[in-house]
Amino acid sequence: MTDNLLARTRAVLPSWLAIYYQEPIEIERGEGRYVWDADGNRYLDFFGGILTTMTAHALPEVTKAVSDQAGRIIHSSTLYLNRPMVELAEQIAAVSDIPDAKVFLTTSGTEANDTALLLASSLRRSNQILAMRNSYHGRSFSTVAITGNRTWSPTSLSPFQVYYVHGSQRYRSPFAHLSDGEFIAACVADLKEVLDQAGGDVAALIAEPIQGVGGFTSGPDGLLGAFAEVLRERGILWISDEVQTGWGRTGEHFWGWESHGATPDIVTFAKGIGNGLSMGGVIARAEVMDCLTANSISTFGGSPLTSAGALANLRYVLDHDLQANAARHGPTLLDGLRALGSSIVGDVRGKGLMIGVELVRPGTGTPGEPAPELATAVLEACKRRGLLIGKGGLHGNALRIAPLLTLTAEEAAEGLAILVAAIEEVTP
Ligand code: PMP
Repeated sequence: MTDNLLARTRAVLPSWLAIYYQEPIEIERGEGRYVWDADGNRYLDFFGGILTTMTAHALPEVTKAVSDQAGRIIHSSTLYLNRPMVELAEQIAAVSDIPDAKVFLTTSGTEANDTALLLASSLRRSNQILAMRNSYHGRSFSTVAITGNRTWSPTSLSPFQVYYVHGSQRYRSPFAHLSDGEFIAACVADLKEVLDQAGGDVAALIAEPIQGVGGFTSGPDGLLGAFAEVLRERGILWISDEVQTGWGRTGEHFWGWESHGATPDIVTFAKGIGNGLSMGGVIARAEVMDCLTANSISTFGGSPLTSAGALANLRYVLDHDLQANAARHGPTLLDGLRALGSSIVGDVRGKGLMIGVELVRPGTGTPGEPAPELATAVLEACKRRGLLIGKGGLHGNALRIAPLLTLTAEEAAEGLAILVAAIEEVTP
């Protein structure tokens, strides 16, 4: 770092802003799957794919769309007709598979989930929400209220009555020993019991198909579809939070919910769609989206600038079939990490380019004792070798690996070799 930027950060920004690394990195520029820091060090980016940049850093198509739009006008999203926003919404509705879909664009995932909660609670006239244990849905008052991971939920005050159910954190679940079918049956029984105890009219269930901040963890395929059946019988809506799983990341499908055999009522998205621009949104059937009876606008959600960039990004994903690329290179990483057989690796899981590795203290059984200190050490060791990855989970002991969707075979091999070396280095 060229000056005391860390001290200046600590002095003027909130203490609760999480910053990685003993010596944090000031990222200065990026190209393709690599970023460079202010000291000129190059890193292969195995986290930016989820953190912000879905396809590639400095993707020329996005840069051109943004700069063309900036040359014309940078403006609000609402009150006047907004061509880029309409074109983006049309494209998103077309790939959504939601019948009669309408799209509302926001500036973030938090605002998207906030909107989904507003829709569901208004339609159902209820403030009761079901959420998954170990979940993360944002940082506003309403979204921290439905965030099951207490590390990321700084207040217990709540606008909602929230009930948490089992299902997403399989490795540490009381049902971990069960087969897929038995696991789903146990979780459905838990859901029914929670609903019976709630007694009232629950508005919605919100769930991430693969939990992001929770450490890239999920239940078996079909779990959320089995939940949806129970919910439908009682008129409860299903909100799928696709902020991390959308746009082909899992390789198998375009959306995470598609592995579950049912269609959600509301879908939220953000992060990667803008390839680094502030963009999120909500998709719902017209009857759900149009249930609000007062005006409600987002000044910058879907602005011409961010919409133009997101549209170029989404077209790139579709034209280059990046979902297939995630399916192509994901197994290299997943199989390579599984083959490692390290005493500190308790669980390797994920799909496509969304892979979690849970680190545990050696010899502590199954599930092993969480080892957040080893996760921190692996992050540092990867950084020294030129690789950026993330971490997460309730205990901060899960490595999160999410390369950009344009990843090449050479880059997958390079990243895997660094990961293996880093894990071996910190193994006691
Ligand atoms: N939902 C999920 C699943 C997320 O991972 C995140 C961000 N980590 C959010 C919502 C909130 O998105 P944002 O940070 O853009 O508000």
